[in-house]
Amino acid sequence: MTQAAKNVFVASRLPKRAGVSGWVATLQPRTPRAALSEAISADVAIIGGGFAGLSAGRRISRLDPTVRVAILEAGIVGEGPAGANSGFIIDLPHEVSSDDFSGESESKFRDSVLLQRSAIALASELAAENGWSKDLFDPCGRYSVAMSAEGDKHLTAYSQQLAKMGEAHRLLGREEIEAVTGSKAFTSALFSPGTIIVQPAAYIRAVADCLREPVTLFEQTPALSFERSGDGWLVKTPTGTVRAGKIIMANNGHAESFGFFRGRLLHVFTYASLTEEFDPARLGGERKWAATPALPMGTTVRRINTGGGDRILVRSRYSYNPGIEISDAAIRSAGRLHDGKFAHRFPTLAGVGMQYRWGGAMALTRNHVPAFGEVERGVFAACGCNGLGASNSTAAGIAAAERVLAHRSELGRIYDKLAAPVLLPPQPLTTIGAKIHLAWREWSAGAE
Ligand SMILES: Cc1cc2nc3c(=O)[nH]c(=O)nc-3n(C[C@H](O)[C@H](O)[C@H](O)COP(=O)(O)OP(=O)(O)OC[C@H]3O[C@@H](n4cnc5c(N)ncnc54)[C@H](O)[C@@H]3O)c2cc1C
Repeated sequence: MTQAAKNVFVASRLPKRAGVSGWVATLQPRTPRAALSEAISADVAIIGGGFAGLSAGRRISRLDPTVRVAILEAGIVGEGPAGANSGFIIDLPHEVSSDDFSGESESKFRDSVLLQRSAIALASELAAENGWSKDLFDPCGRYSVAMSAEGDKHLTAYSQQLAKMGEAHRLLGREEIEAVTGSKAFTSALFSPGTIIVQPAAYIRAVADCLREPVTLFEQTPALSFERSGDGWLVKTPTGTVRAGKIIMANNGHAESFGFFRGRLLHVFTYASLTEEFDPARLGGERKWAATPALPMGTTVRRINTGGGDRILVRSRYSYNPGIEISDAAIRSAGRLHDGKFAHRFPTLAGVGMQYRWGGAMALTRNHVPAFGEVERGVFAACGCNGLGASNSTAAGIAAAERVLAHRSELGRIYDKLAAPVLLPPQPLTTIGAKIHLAWREWSAGAE
């Protein structure tokens, strides 16, 4: 989706923090890499140091270790959405539909699996190279949990699809999932072994810290604008510039802040709360597990251990925020919802409070495709995470890096086939529609 040729692109807004994530708060403070403070040259400038940007940097260095890359991250690595999520790097699309599952949907499923597993391959390679511990990177799989007859039905249908696709998985009954989670609230579950579970802030910091010269990361360095300069581009930051042959925009919804994909990205936030530490004896089941909801609008729950005891993470609620920022009141409101979900699932933990609450931005598209491809000559987008950026944005970053270096791969062929994001209805219809849609889906997810 190339715009009319323009020479200057100026950021109309920069990312804002949406609370402090419990993932960051429970790690040692990071000493950020130095901000850019001079005029430099690079072959490729990458805007954004989340899953997409760091993975693009990594992929470029693997394909050609001589390519000079400058990654510009507006904030501190780990403090944006990539370090604030629930930490599921998911390998399988969740494509349950009551109608037939064959032909086109089968081939889309396979493409999705290849895409998501490309992300997992990059993460696994880094984990193996660097000997990451299971606190950071755990290939332990995930549970999809149901709390209602509708959720149970959904999991059974999903299991049939997975069986048809030859994907390993296991259905669990009420007692079996209680033995894992210590909660009597879940009515059934589906375990799929291929998901990687990470401490997201630790993971994204670790990916950043694996990058080596000539890939350089500059933190607290927002790209304020970029303009054509000779055959390439000049990126301006508050205290420096990067003259680069090519640019990868890996700033998700903020691609729109530079004028790209205008009217095609839905800026949706989701929210999480993390409890204080509790005595593990207060909750039966295993000490560590990770569960996503059977119904897409439901609640994600994880049990983790942080040294002094265990904690429960609750992620729920979606809100539409076209200005790509949220208020503290929105975090508090989501927090009240989390408290109810927590109390319902874990009555034995009555009195355990939430220590951290936060939110984070995602960019969705109406037709669920990424905002990907060459958007101006020499400017490539790896944006539009569609809510599953640990896999999708990592894959998009890899694919963008391959495009920039003209490297052909099976993954690239999948991106070649994807449609462009379609236009959203004009405002205020998008706002009204998105709010009604999210409220209705949250209501229909019920207890899930
Ligand atoms: C609470 C929560 C739970 C979630 N759980 C999961 C999950 O379990 N699994 C999953 O797959 N996804 C999950 N997500 C979604 C996931 O976090 C996002 O999809 C993912 O972070 C998108 O990655 P990205 O690299 O595309 O963008 P981001 O992570 O948003 O990274 C983009 C980066 O660009 C930077 N940036 C923006 N503008 C500029 C600029 N002008 N100059 C320089 N830098 C700039 C930002 O600071 C940011 O760090 C969750 C999200 C939230 C909020």
